[in-house]
Amino acid sequence: MASTGLPPALARLVRDLCMLPGIGEKSATRLALHILRWPRAKATELAESIASLHEAIGICSECYTFSEQDPCPICNDQKRDRSVLCVVEEPGDVIAIEKAGCFRGLYHVLQGVLAPADGIGPDELKIAELVRRVQGRKIQEIIIATSSTAQGEATAAYLTEILRPLDLQITRIACGIPMGMDLKYADAQTLKRALESRTTY
Ligand SMILES: [Zn+2]
Repeated sequence: MASTGLPPALARLVRDLCMLPGIGEKSATRLALHILRWPRAKATELAESIASLHEAIGICSECYTFSEQDPCPICNDQKRDRSVLCVVEEPGDVIAIEKAGCFRGLYHVLQGVLAPADGIGPDELKIAELVRRVQGRKIQEIIIATSSTAQGEATAAYLTEILRPLDLQITRIACGIPMGMDLKYADAQTLKRALESRTTY
């Protein structure tokens, strides 16, 4: 490893930063050296932000997105349209759609996608919770906004089967999201178009 020869504390930080997605050893070393040049207080602040994250942020018991409050501010917002539910994979997707500012309904976060090869079946996702949520409320439309990856499409197909017996409209975002694209990396305009031009199953 290139980090051998670094002082142990620095090598440890490089190793830790390498655990982040998209960060290789070269970037990790550059970041670690950058942090080393910071005043101590600034480095401590970063460490505290990371350390307090899990304590401060929980999961909304209604939509399963990350939130400091339960229910989250979106679920709590009485001005939002409670008849439409947008089903997404991850909390990052909620953030992306909210940023695009094109949706005024509520969300349901699955906490992943079906991936049988990795041992992720329907029970590992918030699917039973989705069905329960739909049954008890006056929800008229479910927009399935999983990614256009193979797993995202398989998850959408599974959800359609599960939800079909319930009396509601099921739509799927389609146009604009390129095949294989992860929803949260789509730009605001693309997301807006994808939501507006959704198709009914
Ligand atoms: Zn919520």
